[in-house]
Amino acid sequence: MNSTDVIVIGSGIGGLSCAALLARYGLEVTVFESHTIPGGAAQAFERQGFKFDCGPSLYSGLSYSPSVNPLRQVIDAIGVDLPCVNYDTWGCRLPEGDFDTSVGGEQFCEVLAKLRGQDAVNEWRQLQKVMTPLAQAAIALPPAALRLDIGAALTVGKFAPSLAQHATNFLKLTGSFDRIMNGVVRDPFIHNWLNLLCFLLSGLPAAGTNAAEVAFMFADWYRPGVVLDYPIGGSAALVNALVQGLEKHGGQLLLNSHVEQILVEANKAVGVRLRDGREIRARRAVVSNASVWDTLKLLPEGALPRKFFTQRQTIPECDSFMHLHLGIDAQGLPADLACHYIVVNDWELGITAPQNVVLVSIPSILDPSLAPPGKHVIHVYTPGNEPYALWEGMDRRSQEYTQQKRSRAEVMWQALERIIPDIRTRCQITQVGTPLTHERFLRRHRGSYGPAISAASGLFPSHRTPLPGLMCCGDSTFPGIGLPAVAASGMIVANSLASVRQHLTMLEEIL
Ligand SMILES: Cc1cc2nc3c(=O)[nH]c(=O)nc-3n(C[C@H](O)[C@H](O)[C@H](O)COP(=O)(O)OP(=O)(O)OC[C@H]3O[C@@H](n4cnc5c(N)ncnc54)[C@H](O)[C@@H]3O)c2cc1C
Repeated sequence: MNSTDVIVIGSGIGGLSCAALLARYGLEVTVFESHTIPGGAAQAFERQGFKFDCGPSLYSGLSYSPSVNPLRQVIDAIGVDLPCVNYDTWGCRLPEGDFDTSVGGEQFCEVLAKLRGQDAVNEWRQLQKVMTPLAQAAIALPPAALRLDIGAALTVGKFAPSLAQHATNFLKLTGSFDRIMNGVVRDPFIHNWLNLLCFLLSGLPAAGTNAAEVAFMFADWYRPGVVLDYPIGGSAALVNALVQGLEKHGGQLLLNSHVEQILVEANKAVGVRLRDGREIRARRAVVSNASVWDTLKLLPEGALPRKFFTQRQTIPECDSFMHLHLGIDAQGLPADLACHYIVVNDWELGITAPQNVVLVSIPSILDPSLAPPGKHVIHVYTPGNEPYALWEGMDRRSQEYTQQKRSRAEVMWQALERIIPDIRTRCQITQVGTPLTHERFLRRHRGSYGPAISAASGLFPSHRTPLPGLMCCGDSTFPGIGLPAVAASGMIVANSLASVRQHLTMLEEIL
């Protein structure tokens, strides 16, 4: 193969969503993935029968359709299956104490009544009231309708009646969530809680998180009868479903195929050169799913206007991660362990402070197939709050690195001890990952969670670039970080390369 219609660089969830949909639209599409495992941040690996998720563990809106989750919409559009287990409760280990909480507004009122009293409950109810019309507005225009050309008049126009109905609320959805939050919430615990949720959504506190993103979460998490999802087989099952959809429609994924350079001729992106020297031409487009900083590294000098290049290169980064992957003996553990726990050490330090927030995921509680019988698989991580600078330039074989790894992992062990006190004696497999591990295995610039673009300063960058033939998708583009967002970005790019008629047919099928 030395030419194809579209080349996609990277098999993250954004790249795979884009590629699979392009294939469904009938284009010849090839995905080149640098790693030997597909999925990017959502990749999984197996050791001694334990199946480890590397990244995402919180999923919602995947187990039913039509769903407002763009990722579910991609799955529907490409016609694949993704069986999920449902659950609704996760554990909290917060400075206020240990408790379980569920999705759905009412159960959180019980938590608030106990921790903060009736005034806090009233504030929470008032916030729900304010958010309800905003949540409806946030889902009035499915991102699946978006495309980057004039055809959007027809595909977006299809939703004109519901857009008109919510018109007055759209303005409130622009900018950051803290404006809405501060208008309603006085209680410091609710403030902290909402900042935590925002941080988990976007990598930034409420002052930097887009109001529309939070409204979307409210639409999803606080609807009647809501449950959360976990794909059976873990994040690998999600990745496999997208790859299956890609291949079913004639596309292909080539692993271990690092793109060294995007080929530019006559001021147009025309293909890629792989690390092994092979050159592949793209007749329609090259789509980069690599992060913005990694994409810029692939372009020849001068391919982009200097101002644009500098603007993109200097987009600030979210911090990186510490990871702890454990395969443990589950004998004698309490039967009511939750699949997920959120641990916050000290609200006063701020939600983004290093080593302050720790997430624990024990997915084999929901899906026993992820671990051998009588065992559990655990992923503990510090979510986007580990400074890369602490690790920059370190030799991974040095004693200094080993020591720092041990000391920076301690906060994750201590968080887990609040849930499983004798955890250190139960481990059959122990693997610690640092920002350098994250950078290496996810091929991510400085192991970053993604761009730290505050909603107060604007939206995430467009998928178009000033270089004809080059488009981008994934968490460096609109609408941002997280699985639903990157799936949406992939859809927007794929839609833009399809005809309006194909796009409208797809919308009819999935919505
Ligand atoms: C620990 C962790 C937990 C998370 N938890 C959640 C969660 O619970 N829920 C949620 O919704 N989101 C979560 N996220 C965020 C979400 O996983 C990411 O936003 C999303 O997966 C990013 O997808 P992407 O397609 O933008 O890019 P990536 O996943 O970064 O994929 C980019 C791909 O491009 C490849 N690549 C890069 N350069 C090249 C090259 N030169 N040649 C070929 N290939 C290349 C990389 O190898 C990679 O496979 C989490 C992220 C992490 C890291």
